[in-house]
Amino acid sequence: MNEDKAHFAPVDPVKAGFSASCPRCGQGRLFDGFSTIKPGCSNCGLDYSFADSGDGPAIFVILLADFLVVGLAVWTELTYQPPLWLHFVLFGPMAIIVSLWLLRTIKALLIALQYKNKASQGTIDRG
Ligand SMILES: [Zn+2]
Repeated sequence: MNEDKAHFAPVDPVKAGFSASCPRCGQGRLFDGFSTIKPGCSNCGLDYSFADSGDGPAIFVILLADFLVVGLAVWTELTYQPPLWLHFVLFGPMAIIVSLWLLRTIKALLIALQYKNKASQGTIDRG
């Protein structure tokens, strides 16, 4: 694994997360469709079967999207006191869009970090 890793310049996990690309080469796409992980990288052939972000992305999406959207809604209310329907029209779709974008981005970021740090299930060393 280390010898074939040497052919690739290290990819910044944040960059790989925002572009949803392969954590090893930074070129191939990570997702097949919206948030389904592809079997492997089409560019460098990295097997994505190690990738398991589990429930990790969901909690970050909840925390960040809530902070952003509810914070903005409260600020808007306190600053402009718009009618209630405007809140629904504005912040309803915004909550959905921000959540979906964050879900994809954070999932890719966590997988890139998992790859970089070689994180996996715990094993017992029976040396
Ligand atoms: Zn790749």
